[in-house]
Amino acid sequence: MVEGCSMKEMPLQAGRHHFLTALRVLQGMVVECNIEGYLDKNNQLLTNFANVCKIRYRISVVSDDIKTKTRNRKMSKTRSEPKLESVSTIEKTPRKRKKIFSVVFMPTLACNCRCSHCFEELAEGNAEDHNWELHFTEMRRLAETLKCNTLKVYWQGGEVLCLHPDTVQCALDIGAAVFKDSDITLEHHLQTNLLLYETSRWKEVISNFFLGSISSSIDLPNLFRLTPTLGVDEYNRAWLKKKDMAERDGFTVSVVSLPNHKTLELGAERFYRFFRDEALLKNVQVNFPFPGNSGLEPLDLKKLAGFMTDLYKIWVASGRDLNLSPFRAMEDRLLRGRGALPCCWTYSCASILLSIGPNGGVGQCDCWVATYSDHNFGTTDQPVEQLLDSDQRQPFLNRPLKLMRDTKCGECKFWGICFGGCPIRAFAFTGNLMDVDHYCPVYYEMFSIILDQAEHESQLEYEFSEEVEFSSSEKGG
Ligand code: SF4
Ligand code: SF4
Ligand code: SF4
Repeated sequence: MVEGCSMKEMPLQAGRHHFLTALRVLQGMVVECNIEGYLDKNNQLLTNFANVCKIRYRISVVSDDIKTKTRNRKMSKTRSEPKLESVSTIEKTPRKRKKIFSVVFMPTLACNCRCSHCFEELAEGNAEDHNWELHFTEMRRLAETLKCNTLKVYWQGGEVLCLHPDTVQCALDIGAAVFKDSDITLEHHLQTNLLLYETSRWKEVISNFFLGSISSSIDLPNLFRLTPTLGVDEYNRAWLKKKDMAERDGFTVSVVSLPNHKTLELGAERFYRFFRDEALLKNVQVNFPFPGNSGLEPLDLKKLAGFMTDLYKIWVASGRDLNLSPFRAMEDRLLRGRGALPCCWTYSCASILLSIGPNGGVGQCDCWVATYSDHNFGTTDQPVEQLLDSDQRQPFLNRPLKLMRDTKCGECKFWGICFGGCPIRAFAFTGNLMDVDHYCPVYYEMFSIILDQAEHESQLEYEFSEEVEFSSSEKGG
């Protein structure tokens, strides 16, 4: 640890490059430093850099920059007026070690659907029965190596329900046996298109292992989801019947929905009403598509940003009566500093999850293992340390730092929540996972509207509390 490091001698007018070069040498150290005289622009850079480098720092900024103080004031919700020539102090300590790790487990790449927007290279063939133990043993070693106390296993395909229920039951039993004498909680989650759901086949095995909830997918309008026997027009009707069946069996069904260009034409209000009033869902997550192998046409980002901000306003005006992701988590994180965001907004998704395919291939997530397997880290028969140290994994770990140094992300006020977005949503559009996420401008609008709304609501709160005080004193308390 280096203490008392002073950076006073850095000239005030130091350019971005020099500033970052000086800070880069501190990378990885726990450093306590006093930095005086930095202007607002570099203050944002330092804040972003410290998030990357585990620097413990104290900044004394002598500045008459009202904007900085106004922003800080909004975020901390204090109402005092900023004073010129005052000294502001920001303290930052290193983050705590995470205790949860996730594995996206793909026991099969077979699927009953033939969706035209599917990014995966689907294939017949499942994980071999004799490999279940190998896969779960590797998961246990992973959890132990990373010292986590909960391992979340997200079962995905292909389509998991293409497997026989006895096979799934057997795999889950093996998983339980492998983790039996450990103090690690093994938690199973299920993602399915639901069309193969039948009470007699699946109710028991799913209710025994999958925490009472099922995650599925549906779009409005449906342009791409279909099976060899169901066209796009019939798909949603068939899905709704299966969803009702699963709910009657006691499961909570949540969905992921991908907007398409027709969704943007339909508008956010129709979209919201469909999920809340017609599909009668409580948990909806909006995800952004990427082409993968499908040749999907990119969406117009301006229209998508408009759609998402409209959707947010409708959600707020409706009393936030859906559990609408990512807005719920974005509000929690931006306004209350807590809550779990989708993986695209973690510092590095490689530090929170990896994926295992049916043949034991290990990569970043299902998007990579099922589509770009040449980026795999290795296989489950290798030691965990080798997988974690693999050259193929390093770009995922190093990406945020590189984005922070070399791109507009470094000076973005949302860096500390966004970190440059999702690697696959960079790679699938440009061929380079070190690029900024294709959906950056949409994210920026979404973060901004949440802050604007918070400011508006705090204003209302303020006016309302004045009123309450007045009326209660009228009533004599
Ligand atoms: S998108 Fe999902 S349900 Fe559709 S074909 Fe691909 S894996 Fe199957
Ligand atoms: S590449 Fe994107 S989708 Fe995959 S784990 Fe990382 S953030 Fe999530
Ligand atoms: S909103 Fe855009 S510029 Fe800002 S951190 Fe995210 S990807 Fe980077």
